[in-house]
Amino acid sequence: MYIYLVSFENTEKRLLFAVAKNVKETFGFDVRVSWVAAPFKYAYNAQRKQYIAERVVDYLSTLNYPRLVRMLAILSSDLYAGDLEFVFGFGTKRDAVVSTFRLWSTEERLFFERVFKVVNLTLGKTFGLDYCKDHKCVMHPYFSLTDMDAKAKSFCTYCKTKLEATLSQLTL
Ligand SMILES: [Zn+2]
Repeated sequence: MYIYLVSFENTEKRLLFAVAKNVKETFGFDVRVSWVAAPFKYAYNAQRKQYIAERVVDYLSTLNYPRLVRMLAILSSDLYAGDLEFVFGFGTKRDAVVSTFRLWSTEERLFFERVFKVVNLTLGKTFGLDYCKDHKCVMHPYFSLTDMDAKAKSFCTYCKTKLEATLSQLTL
């Protein structure tokens, strides 16, 4: 079983491979990585210059591969969902999308850490986790980069236990 990590734009290879490593370490699945150069117009709002999260996920849901656990798209463009001005990440049961657009820092380590946090939270949700009260937990909600930088990329004991229970059922 594996998680499919796909970039629809020219996301930096180093970042994509670093995300793949983080996902493997955090969720324990193999990760496959793929690039699709052209952004798909159906999911893009040209006026807002943002991708529409629901449509990205809709598109992902049409792609089926044997033994696929989750599909995660990484975008370097901005992303929104519903009435929200923007979202960092968005997911349903199997498919999710994360935008790196608002996570940028000139310090690469910090930039990558932010992407890992959004990826872990977004994938965590697809595995049934909810927002968490523990400020250090990656499932703790955040509304700014300052909040995001204050939390860890890992799960608190409560969320980790819950996640492991879900994952162990999946891998049976
Ligand atoms: Zn937690």
